[in-house]
Parts: sequence; C-alpha cells; structure tokens
Amino acid sequence: MPQHCTWIVRDEVEMPEAITEADFEKEALAFLEANAEPRKEAKATWGEGSDSMSIFPERTPEEDRADLEAARGWSRSRFDAGFGWITGPEEYGGRALDRSYQRLYDSLEARFDTPSQAVFGIGLGMIAPTILAHAIPEVRDLYLKGLYRGDIVACQLFSEPSSGSDLASLQTRAVKDGDEWVVNGQKVWTSGAHLSDIGEIICRTDPDVPKHKGLTGFVVDMHAPGVEVRPLRQMTGGAAFNEVFFTDVRIPDSHRLGDVNAGWGVALTTLMNERAAIGGGAGGVALGGMGTHRLIQLVQHYGKSKDPLVRQKLVDVLINYRVSSYNTLRAMAKINAGQLPGPELSIAKLSLTQNLMRVSELVSSVLGPKLVADSGEWGTYAWGEFLLSVPGMRVAGGTDEIMRNIVGERVLGLPKEPSPGKA
Ligand SMILES: Cc1cc2nc3c(=O)[nH]c(=O)nc-3n(C[C@H](O)[C@H](O)[C@H](O)COP(=O)(O)OP(=O)(O)OC[C@H]3O[C@@H](n4cnc5c(N)ncnc54)[C@H](O)[C@@H]3O)c2cc1C
Repeated sequence: MPQHCTWIVRDEVEMPEAITEADFEKEALAFLEANAEPRKEAKATWGEGSDSMSIFPERTPEEDRADLEAARGWSRSRFDAGFGWITGPEEYGGRALDRSYQRLYDSLEARFDTPSQAVFGIGLGMIAPTILAHAIPEVRDLYLKGLYRGDIVACQLFSEPSSGSDLASLQTRAVKDGDEWVVNGQKVWTSGAHLSDIGEIICRTDPDVPKHKGLTGFVVDMHAPGVEVRPLRQMTGGAAFNEVFFTDVRIPDSHRLGDVNAGWGVALTTLMNERAAIGGGAGGVALGGMGTHRLIQLVQHYGKSKDPLVRQKLVDVLINYRVSSYNTLRAMAKINAGQLPGPELSIAKLSLTQNLMRVSELVSSVLGPKLVADSGEWGTYAWGEFLLSVPGMRVAGGTDEIMRNIVGERVLGLPKEPSPGKA
C-alpha cells in the first residue's frame, strides 16, 4: 500500500463481537438523556436570537478559554461513557466498532444541545489519524486517548511564509543531536496554535536531496522551550490563526512520524484528511440547517421571493449544496469500502467554496449597503462576517486553483501544469 493510503488506517482494526445497533442506540440515548438537554427547534424565527453567521471563530481570548472548557467537559464525559472514539482501536480507548455506529451516534447527538467541539476539529480530523498511521506505539499511547478525550488540543504546523501550495519547499530545519532533533524556523497561518498542546510539524531534514525527499514529520510539544506563538488578526476581526516561531526546540526522536525523510507521505495523510474534513464538514456548518433556512428567511423578509433572478440564485445554492453532499457521500462510501478517495475530496472542497461564493453573491444582491453599514438591524450587518470569511475558505486546505489542478490532471486527464520549482 502506498504510504499516503494509510490515512484510512482507523478502519483497519479488528472488530470484536459487536453490540447490536439497537442496543448501542439504547445505550447512547441513555447517556445523552442523562447528560444533555434536547435541542430546541433549529428553525428560529427571523429577528430572534443571535444573528451571527461567522465561519471562523471571532472570540476574545477569554471566550476561547471558556469555549475550550465547555468543549472539554462534554468531550470527557462522552469519552468516558464509551462514545468518544467509537471506531478506534480498543488499546487506545476506542470501541473498535464499524463506522455505521459512529454515524448512528452522531445522528442521535445532533438531537441534543451539546457544546461545540470545533476546537478539537484539527486534532481529531487530521492529526490523530496521522499519529495512528505513522507514530510508534509509545507515542500513540501518549496522545491518542488524550486527543479523543479532549484533554489535548492539536494544530497543524505545515505552511511557512514562502511555502503554502508548494509545501514541499518548506525551510524549517530539524537537525539530529543524539536522541533528539533540534528545530529552527517559522510556521504561519497555524489555526488554533494559541490553544494547542501539541502540533504536527513537517521539517526539512536533508537539504541536499530533491525537495519532497528531504522532509520528516514530528509531534512537537507546543509548550516546549523555544516555541513562540503570535496571533494573526484576520479581516473578520478575530484571531483564529497564528505565526509560530521555533528557536532551538528539542523534539525526542521517538516523536518522529514515520521514517527520516519520509515526511511527504506523512503530510499527504494529513492533507487528505483535511480535505475530507473541510469538504464534508464545513459545508454543513456554512449552509446546512440554520444556514439554508436563514438564507430563505432573508430572501422572504426583504420581499425578494418573487424576484426571478434572486429565486434562480437561491435555487442554484440549494441544488449545488445537495449535489456536493452526494459527492461527499461518494467519497465516504469509498473510505468505508477501504479505498482511497483522492479527487473526490478536491471536488468536495472546491464545490464547497464555489457555493460559499454563490451565497455571498445572493446575500450581497439582497442586502446591498446594509452589509457594510452597521445600523443595528438584525440579520444584516452580521452577514458581513460570513462574506469576509469566504476568501479564507478558498485558501485553507489547498486553494481553489490547486484543487482545479488536481481535478484537471487526475479526473479529466489534462496535461500536468508546468511547475518551475519542481525538483
Ligand atoms: C483560514 C485558514 C486557515 C489555515 N490554517 C492552517 C493551518 O492550521 N496550518 C497550516 O499549516 N496552514 C494553514 N493555512 C495555510 C494554507 O494551507 C495556505 O494558505 C495555502 O496552502 C496556500 O498557501 P499560500 O498562502 O502560501 O499561498 P500561495 O501558495 O503562495 O498561493 C498564492 C496564489 O497562487 C496560486 N497558486 C499557487 N501555486 C499554483 C499553481 N501551481 N497553479 C495555479 N495557481 C497556483 C494560489 O492558488 C493562490 O491564489 C490556513 C489558511 C487559511 C486561509
């Protein structure tokens, strides 16, 4: 199996004699009913409650901490009750059940009002699968349970000031010194670094070989001496991501992910999981449930529901949202069947961002100047945060252009883009 296939390793666990889905459902409902309140009707009335439509968290450091504590409280009780890592190997605290049990649990939990788990998104969606696939057993022991229990928050330390799309050109150096590696360099755009306990870092360990062949992945302690996290303020007002500086930071060799100079395969494991998380998850956050409902309410409230152009734009959004959710199901079906979905995830990410742009256009055409003038009118200016977040979504996890290159080359069979920097 090529190295980048190992990201589906979480399904490769030996199944114990499984509890029936009916018994599992009973057990899960008993836990949820004892620990959470049923969710109130999601379709709130226009003008009532919060009108926030932000995609990225716009929180103060105090709010960040309070959110983390709430998320952690829920995550711990869920894990301790046996619902924190339903598909995971038993040796790391999982239940080794099939994905259908996870889907069942998710659908049950969605009926209850529980704290957002967004702060654990990168750790669970990207870093934990990479640790499971590439770390030695001692390091899996050290971190996996903590990640799934919400004790540990993790971040992804890939991008650098001169290396984003061309990730393999990254320059942060790791030099071996006895049983340790000494890391020097700078990472940037690191989401959630300010809240993180560990990070997955890709470093250059051999500058004398072609660029993809001289990289190594590590798990780094974000509280280690020499790690400095500086927040970056984004145009929406919040500071959800950071610059991270490494000065003589020591990482034990045991915390290496995979072989020395095999970091490119490790990075691909993480990136495939990132596209699955963004394409499959954020679309729901942005447009599913409340988002779609709010959009329809907006059109109705401003008397535009009979305007043929607005109707056309609205239906376009709804159709594309539905089509991309089918594409995501196709990718998930491949994962369930033990195959590697490649281009489907790029299509999922691209169709998400294209639809976010459609939403932006629709909202702009309905609200006009109300978007930029804060008149205090409910459900107007708040959409500005959404619109200002869309460009970031088009860049995070691989830009639209890079996704198009992948689809062009791997799905349509077009000739490869010329890449002057390729070594
Ligand atoms: C909200 C957000 C969160 C992020 N979180 C993280 C994180 O947690 N950890 C992390 O490591 N990184 C993170 N990133 C960084 C992200 O991965 C990079 O921004 C992204 O990979 C693009 O790299 P770049 O910014 O260096 O742009 P560049 O690669 O310099 O691209 C600049 C422009 O050139 C285009 N371009 C580049 N190469 C090609 C090509 N071959 N063909 C056609 N066009 C091309 C791009 O599409 C883009 O329009 C985040 C970014 C955002 C916006």
